[in-house]
Amino acid sequence: MIDNRTVMESGSCIECGAKGIDGFSCYELFGFPLVWEHRDPALYALHFWLVSCYMLQHPSNYTEEGYPLPNNVRSRKSKFWSMTIEDIYLGGETNAIANIIKWKEQIRCELK
Ligand SMILES: [Zn+2]
Repeated sequence: MIDNRTVMESGSCIECGAKGIDGFSCYELFGFPLVWEHRDPALYALHFWLVSCYMLQHPSNYTEEGYPLPNNVRSRKSKFWSMTIEDIYLGGETNAIANIIKWKEQIRCELK
């Protein structure tokens, strides 16, 4: 699956490593918690963290160096993360709050 935000190769996002699931690309998986949060104010309160976690794992889309370039010429570097948007999607709506909190804590550790 190809969308204009993430590049999937061999079933995984080449930037964060998330596996495409149920036919959805990494960026499309990100859309699920963005919908869930509109049904749950407590989840919506974590919107900043959800978006920040996703952005940190996709610098080609969200850094000054990457963003001005067309998608097909952006530089994408693979990095291993212990949690990705894949885990948020797989955990489902009921576990989204706990998983987003865990995701931000994991990223904080892995950026040190
Ligand atoms: Zn990704």
